[in-house]
Amino acid sequence: MSKSEEKVFGGIKYECIRCGAITYSDELEKLPEIVCPHGCSRVLKKVRPPIVKQLKAI
Ligand SMILES: [Zn+2]
Repeated sequence: MSKSEEKVFGGIKYECIRCGAITYSDELEKLPEIVCPHGCSRVLKKVRPPIVKQLKAI
């Protein structure tokens, strides 16, 4: 199963600056406001997922 990979691919990751909980943008869209899933902070920082690019060398 690769469902978790699809989630990482489709959503932007957010990390709570207080507890470090990871939330995805599609989870946050369900909420009325951006807030940590644990409710401890409204300040989440965006985490860029590692993008692996394959470059073709000619
Ligand atoms: Zn938190």
